[in-house]
Amino acid sequence: MATPQKHYDFYKVVQDYLDRAATVVDLAPHVRTILNQPKNEIIVNFPVRMDNGEVRLFKGYRVQHNNLLGPFKGGMRYHPQVSLDDVKALAAMMTWKSALMRLPFGGGKGGIKFDPHSVSRHELQKITRRFTHALGENIGPDFDIPAPDVGTNSQAMAWMMDTYSNMVGSNQKQSVKGVVTGKPVASGGTLGREKATGQGMIYCLIEWAKERGFELEGKTMVVQGFGNVGSNAAVILSKLGVSTIAVGDHTGYLYNPEGFNAHKLQDHVKANGSIAGYPNGKAITREEFFATKTDIFAPCALENQIDDAEARAINATVVVEGANGPTTPSGEKILLEKGVEILPDVLANSGGVTVSYYEWVQNKRSESWSEEEVDERLEVAMKRAYRDVSDMARNKKCDLRVAAYAVALQRIEAVYKEREIFP
Ligand code: GLU
Repeated sequence: MATPQKHYDFYKVVQDYLDRAATVVDLAPHVRTILNQPKNEIIVNFPVRMDNGEVRLFKGYRVQHNNLLGPFKGGMRYHPQVSLDDVKALAAMMTWKSALMRLPFGGGKGGIKFDPHSVSRHELQKITRRFTHALGENIGPDFDIPAPDVGTNSQAMAWMMDTYSNMVGSNQKQSVKGVVTGKPVASGGTLGREKATGQGMIYCLIEWAKERGFELEGKTMVVQGFGNVGSNAAVILSKLGVSTIAVGDHTGYLYNPEGFNAHKLQDHVKANGSIAGYPNGKAITREEFFATKTDIFAPCALENQIDDAEARAINATVVVEGANGPTTPSGEKILLEKGVEILPDVLANSGGVTVSYYEWVQNKRSESWSEEEVDERLEVAMKRAYRDVSDMARNKKCDLRVAAYAVALQRIEAVYKEREIFP
């Protein structure tokens, strides 16, 4: 999927939504001032000896936006386009997600600017371990807790956790498992985390559909990005009778009016790294992909994907944002004017961080919950969050994105009012 070339100021976009939501809930000016900038912005440059013997320098980021409600929390992204401003935007969005989901976490985000597909597995491990080491005490199970994001997975989290646990005294090794979430299950991860973001999107969609009297069975979906989030959303929706008729990723776009077998396509992507070469679909253009007539459009890739042209082309009832920031403000305006509803990122994809919280609690208590228990809790949490946002939107006559920010801001403001400002 070709990312539009013009510069996209993602952080400014998030600040503008913060302003709009602050007005809606009449936020105390000092709270708005504090939340407008992250608490800490950490940049590390670290060397790694590559397989060919050369030393390459990598630039890593960790932005800690806010920790009023609990430790900084959020993913680590490996992507060639990682930049400080984008990580700041994503870190702020984690603060809103944690507050919206009533988690005892703040918000943070990090990453490394490189293409993880361009290095060997051995190099990837060294990069991850050296980054963790460079961050040192800037992360910790009660201070700042990374997780997977675009370009990272449970394996990267296992390396991070292992590296961190080798940096603390041997008597602490067991107690620091919760330094990262999204770990493999055998290494202290939780059942249900892998699919959690997709699962949370669907619980949110079900609640929206119930409110609107929208029957999901027999409906169609178009998914942009068929990685962890998009593929799990498609698999889960297929069980509810929703067929995925078009998919796209960085290699191209495929269409199948009969509906893809989401399981098989997911297996293909796991084995090959992309949808390229999947036999049961017709290749279509980017323009055709966005214009595909469907009921549900799920952007599950990167930010800045649905701009004016894409918004004008989209022919759907609802957009469910599995990605963070996929819709630009002007794209959003066009969609809303056309009557397309948007289940915004901060709400729709917060199942990931919510199940990360369940993992962290299990690590603290040395427990392991069943997948059913995780799913049941997630269902309750997502549906409650949807209703909180929907009520706010109705009461304040605003759209769901501003409402999601508004609910989060009110929760954060209440705590600032009680605790006041040090000293
Ligand atoms: N990277 C995910 C997100 O953007 C998950 C974060 C987490 O689990 O901490 O929400």
